[in-house]
This record gives sequence, C-alpha cells and structure tokens, in this order.
Amino acid sequence: MNDDLLARHRAVLPSWISPLYGEPIEIVSGSGCRVTDAQGRTYLDFFGGVLTNMIGYDVAEISDAVRAQLDTGIAHTSTLYLIRKQVELAEKIAKLSGIENAKVFLANSGTEANDTALMLATQFRRSNQILAMRNSYHGRSFAALGVTGNRGWSATSLTPVAVSYLHSGDRIRGVFAGLSDRDYINRAVADLREVLATTTAGDVACLIAEPIQGVGGFVAPPDGYFKAVKEVLDEHGILWVSDEVQTGWGRTGSHFWGYQAHDVVPDMITFAKGVGNGFALGGVIGRPEVMDCLTATSFNTFGGNPVSASAGAAVIDYLLSHDLQANAAHVGAVLHHGLRDLNAPSIAEVRGKGLMLAVEFVKPGTLEPDPAETLRVVEACKTAGLLVGKGGLYGNVIRMGPPLTLTEAEAKEGLEILSCAIQ
Ligand code: PMP
Repeated sequence: MNDDLLARHRAVLPSWISPLYGEPIEIVSGSGCRVTDAQGRTYLDFFGGVLTNMIGYDVAEISDAVRAQLDTGIAHTSTLYLIRKQVELAEKIAKLSGIENAKVFLANSGTEANDTALMLATQFRRSNQILAMRNSYHGRSFAALGVTGNRGWSATSLTPVAVSYLHSGDRIRGVFAGLSDRDYINRAVADLREVLATTTAGDVACLIAEPIQGVGGFVAPPDGYFKAVKEVLDEHGILWVSDEVQTGWGRTGSHFWGYQAHDVVPDMITFAKGVGNGFALGGVIGRPEVMDCLTATSFNTFGGNPVSASAGAAVIDYLLSHDLQANAAHVGAVLHHGLRDLNAPSIAEVRGKGLMLAVEFVKPGTLEPDPAETLRVVEACKTAGLLVGKGGLYGNVIRMGPPLTLTEAEAKEGLEILSCAIQ
C-alpha cells in the first residue's frame, strides 16, 4: 500500500522532493503530539512537520474557527475587497511584534515572506546587495534561495541579489570554536566590518539572519550578538530582517521572538510555519516606512485569506491563553537536561533553547561529522515510535521541535526512546 504510494510519488513528483526514512510513512491522522500512519502505527511527534505543528494535532479551537469561516460559504473572495479576518490577524501580529507602529504583510509561506522582505529592503535602500549568514536557510524562491548559505539546499548558485555571507555560529568547529561569548561577538563584528569594506560597494540593503539557524542544525550566536551587529548596520543605514520562521511564537521559551534574546529590535520580522499550525500562512512585520515603501500596487491572491487568517488568529489566541511559551521553557528544560544526560561518545554537542533542541553526532573522539550514525538513530527512533528531524550542514544533527503543548511525561517518553536508539 505504502510502497504503491511511494512509487506513484516518485513517478509524478520531481526527484528533489524526497521523503524522509528508508520506508517513508504516510501520516493519516493525529491528536495532541501524536500522529498515526496508514498502517495504524502511532508515533510521538518531536518534529511537528519541521516545527510547523505548534499547538498539537486535532485542536478543536482551530477546527471550529476554520469551520465557522467555511460555514459562511466564503473560503476566499479576493484581496480586492476588505477582509475582516485579515485585518484582525494583522492587528494581533503587529501588537505582538515588538516593532513600533508595525505593519504586517500576510503571505502563504516562509519563502514568500522572505522574498517580500528582500524586495522591500532592496526597494527601500535602492540596492540589491544583501548580507546573509553562512549555513542559513531562507526558502526556495529565486531570491530566498539566493541568500541561503547551505550548499545542500542551494539548488542554484544564480540569484537576483548580490550576496555576501557572514560567518555563522558553530561553537565546536570553525572560526568561533572555543571562543567566549564576548570574543565570539568581537570576532563576528570584525568579520562584518571586513565584509562591508571588502565585498560590498557600501550601500547594502539588509542583513537577513535567523536568530537560531533552523535547517542549519539549530546553530545560534551568543545572546547579544545581534545588538552588536545592529550597531554596525545602523552606522550604514542597513536594515536587519530577523527570519523567525522557526524561532517565533514562544518556541525558544525564554522569549516570544528569537530576536528578543539579543536586546535589540529588527527592522523586519518574517514568520510562517507554526502560526498556521498547518494552514498556509506566513508574512512580514516591519517598520511602517519600510513596509509602505513600494510605490506600485502589490498583493497576492491568497495571502491572509479568510480561512488561513481564521486559523492563524485561533492559533495565536490558543498559544497565548495556554501560555505555551512557558510550557516550552519548562518542558524544554526537562528535555534539554535529559539530552545532556545521554552522554554518548558519538554526541559532540547538545544545544538549543526551549522546544528547539538539537544533538550533533560525530565519530567518537573526533569532531568529524557522522551523518550515517545520525540517520541510523533517526530510523531507530522511528521504528520505536518517535519522529525526530535531521539537519545541519553535514546532515549530522538530530533536530527536535515538537508542538509547544508537549508534556513533561511525553518529553521523558521520547528521551527513553532516544536513549535506547543511541546505545
Ligand atoms: N526560513 C526558515 C528559517 C525556514 O526554516 C524555512 C523552512 N524550513 C523557510 C524560511 C521557508 O519556509 P517555507 O517552507 O514555508 O517556504
């Protein structure tokens, strides 16, 4: 049955859409933090479809909100008309953003959000020069892919923007290895100044960066890094876009947005994934003068459509009323401690914040990445009923980004499975 679907998938979808696992699974239902496949096997979901399921599966409040919209008979009319749900959602998001008098553009994905942010920055600054981070991922449109600094995901080296890449934050190898937070930040600021002086013409539009690199394996610079970087950007009028597609909405536990750990406010925030809890929703939040800088009319058909907007508003209400950020902090700490206690020779580092946690695998006694061992553990977890993600530049990182509703008992259950899988 499953094999048949896999054969049909391979026959009709492009080869570069390749499902995870030697025997890919078809998920047909879900409840809470668990999903069930077509063969009736249930899994504890520690990855949430790449951090996309934020408040659990089968949440009545979300289904009710979407159903109520569908019951009006209007799934969508057009952005040509006033859409109440769109305005209400934008108001909610603007209020939560931390950006003064923020305006919000609603889109359908993280890719579209980042593409739009790049377009706004290039228009605002009248420059197509962009700073991005090595080991980053920002989506798969021409421009978003163009600023992605991960060769495993950069399907093409062609891009409509001129990109210069800054060093990013691996703490165990590379230029920042072994440095204190202060030395790390000093070195990064020196790198930024050098890049500005050498590889750009000086009139850069923006820096786009993830507070914690998602696809890159949950690699993060020290707290305060972006404050130091922003001071340099401000000297040149360069905008900072914080890509919060994975780090937003309380996932990091300590803060609502990833950027807030750095005590500085970005010019634009991009978001997607979790806020729709599965519905296609993304967008850009920004300073009004930047958001208003386009002179031509520009909207998209489905961005902020009533169905996605109803889902998004219900997701935000749910996560605020259930204080899921606090749960991410609490259960994330339990998971983090448990992962540290695993203490296997193949584990080089356990890192992350809140419910965004990663384990990096190497050949014991070395810093050589071990993608084969990583894949073995990912498969063994699946066989034992736990879904985790894979990531990192070398494919040697296990990523965990469960729904923020994960309970302590579920965290311990997953840890038990991981522990057995790693032995
Ligand atoms: N930015 C980041 C940080 C992401 O992790 C992703 C998706 N993995 C994207 C952008 C692109 O989002 P989407 O897949 O919704 O286009």
